[in-house]
Amino acid sequence: MIESLERLALAHGPPGREDEVRDLIAGDLLGTADEVLVDRMGNLIAVKGDRGPRVMLCAHMDEVGFVVKHIDEEGWIWFEAHGGINERLLQGQRVSILTDEGRVDGVVGAKGRHLTTEEEASRVTPIREMWIDIGARSRGEAEELGVQVGDLGTFEKRFSRLGRGDLVCATSMDDRAGCLALIEAFKRLRSQEAAVYAVFSVQEEVGCRGAMTAAFRLEPDIALIIDTTYGLDPATTPKETRLRIGEGPSIRALERSRASMMGHVVNRRIFKLLVETAEEEGIPHQTEVTTMAVTDAATVHLSRAGIPTGEVLIPRRYSHSPIEVASMRDIENSARLITSFVDRIDSKLIGGLERKLK
Ligand SMILES: [Zn+2]
Repeated sequence: MIESLERLALAHGPPGREDEVRDLIAGDLLGTADEVLVDRMGNLIAVKGDRGPRVMLCAHMDEVGFVVKHIDEEGWIWFEAHGGINERLLQGQRVSILTDEGRVDGVVGAKGRHLTTEEEASRVTPIREMWIDIGARSRGEAEELGVQVGDLGTFEKRFSRLGRGDLVCATSMDDRAGCLALIEAFKRLRSQEAAVYAVFSVQEEVGCRGAMTAAFRLEPDIALIIDTTYGLDPATTPKETRLRIGEGPSIRALERSRASMMGHVVNRRIFKLLVETAEEEGIPHQTEVTTMAVTDAATVHLSRAGIPTGEVLIPRRYSHSPIEVASMRDIENSARLITSFVDRIDSKLIGGLERKLK
């Protein structure tokens, strides 16, 4: 599984340019799925089974990145965040711009330490003051390399193992870790009583857009979102996150965004069923609430007449940075939890999600 994770983590997928990730996953699932489709938004949908309750399983393919906003006469590239990239970590990083003519690598420049005043040294540089240096000496030269306004980019890709055990350190564990858990779970599904739609969604990082249209199209009876969440580190307290990486997937009870009223109160039955499933199968798991961010669940559960939705999340440290750390064991346990959960979905469960009083 670790080789698969490496391939996924090294693929580029800023929101709206998920092609590399989608090609990898499609290639992997063509052999096992009954049907594989790329919809108009760019979501990849793999189908297994055609009878019984309709189940949507969803992990997003995209990752935080940036968009080229201006190329000046000197050939410097000016850019804006595309998704909630950790801006404080951008300077001094290597980045990749995805152009029509291929990938152009560059570095996010920073004023030399010797020339930096004490006042400048103590403040965080806003992204609008940062530039990408691609080694071009003029706008014409930058354009000859293929860079255009509107091109999207990401952190330069990296992947390595940490420590003795199962930890990996890489770009875009959010949400390639979730993609891998979903791929594995989908491959292991056997003669389930439900029609399963594995959705690898686009544009989650800019407002959960792809999952919203996929849910509308598929009209599922029930949905499960597989994403990443926050693991404890020395900079966080248990009040901020109580999850530890390596101690099992998190089953979320509620989420809300800091900046908007977007959120998801997880359907109680689904939440309980996930916890019971984990307990019965002996799968390590944790539970959480977050008021700092949302997942695709925020739009999926509001589709059509409302879709009861659950969330299985893989804890990782250093969110939206180029060095996200996650545990292979958590990915494997997430895959186990997803398959065991799908095995428990039947018409009786779905019937119980709605009540007719008269
Ligand atoms: Zn995510």
